[in-house]
Amino acid sequence: MARELKINIRDWLDDQGIGYREKADGNITLDSCPGCGKSQKLGIMTDTGVWSCFVCKAENGEYDSGNFAKFVKNYLDISWKKANEIVYGKYNEVKKISFDEIMDESPEERYREQYKEELKKVEYWKYMEVLNKNSHKSAWDYLNGRGISDEDIEKMNLRTVPFDNYLDAKKYYEENGIKDYAHSLALLAGRISFPVIVNKKLLGLVSRDYTGKLNPKVLNSEGPFRKVGLWNYDNAKDSDSLILCEGNTDAIKCGIDRSVAILGKVLNKGQLSLIKKTKATKIYLALDFDVFKAKNELYRQLSAKYPDIYHVDMPPIYKLNFKISKKTIDFLKKVLNKKEEDFVLKPDELKIDLFDLDNIKILLKREGDPEIKEELQNLLKCDYKDPGDYSKKEMEEIIANAKKMGASISLD
Ligand SMILES: [Zn+2]
Repeated sequence: MARELKINIRDWLDDQGIGYREKADGNITLDSCPGCGKSQKLGIMTDTGVWSCFVCKAENGEYDSGNFAKFVKNYLDISWKKANEIVYGKYNEVKKISFDEIMDESPEERYREQYKEELKKVEYWKYMEVLNKNSHKSAWDYLNGRGISDEDIEKMNLRTVPFDNYLDAKKYYEENGIKDYAHSLALLAGRISFPVIVNKKLLGLVSRDYTGKLNPKVLNSEGPFRKVGLWNYDNAKDSDSLILCEGNTDAIKCGIDRSVAILGKVLNKGQLSLIKKTKATKIYLALDFDVFKAKNELYRQLSAKYPDIYHVDMPPIYKLNFKISKKTIDFLKKVLNKKEEDFVLKPDELKIDLFDLDNIKILLKREGDPEIKEELQNLLKCDYKDPGDYSKKEMEEIIANAKKMGASISLD
């Protein structure tokens, strides 16, 4: 299909001083063909820019026929790229790609493809353990460390498998007579599984790495649940306002009593009809619309029913926070809330590693409170700098000082 012209052909010819004559059919013929020089032999269709010269065609000349970019290229003796830009504008046409196609390109999707059969059977869910503060301490700490309260964790109906590595988990399930699902379950070792439950029916699992070592970080079960399900639907459906987030991390951040995750960038028909069945009268979109026409489409879909739709800008995620231990978070909370009068800490209260040091710096930078910066300087007995500004020697100094203060520091 011909691309839409950016220029008006008559104007362009006028600008170049090329004379032409109007024809009865609305098209034009040039007073002189730039190729053969003959008059009224080169005709141009002004709506599409397609042209041809009878004489040049017969003589295999340069101006035989073509689209208008070819005419401009020949006439100005420039590259195809430049000619195309003049005639059609910069080539930034958005190509259509389906959501599933994009997902196919991600490592997660390739992994899912590899283990398709295993992940399909979400009935293995019943063999997983309900996430418990005491038995699954590192998973629970991971969630706490990301600012998720015990109460919220309990509401989310999370599950996990008893071991954080594949081999131990597989062995455990095999020994317990769950041979059929041992492999599927073992794939979820080291992950917290967030169930996608709609009207009490389990549609799928979104399983997130809590060890910091697994790839992909998020593993989804098979099936169409991302098209027909919304994560956290049952918890949020009775709220008078509803926040639509891309993933469950954002949804938790926005509050699980009123947020759902669409588990992607596109809202599907099934999901839309679920949203319309909630009690919400106000919709907040906490979605990142950098691609496609998804945003306008979503507004269009929702605006018929909801007069109040808002777009929420989510705060950026600081990736380094990922490695902060619960102990450090508690320590930071103390410092940032200034609950400890003079910030004197007992040695075992300050167990930090290098990642945590970096995170402390980032957090304090975000906090932007000079008083706190000063306290940190005192605490670490060194100058506060922006992350990344420390030399190896300075880092060693920080570690030495922290050790003097009784901190145990690991360099892994
Ligand atoms: Zn000609």
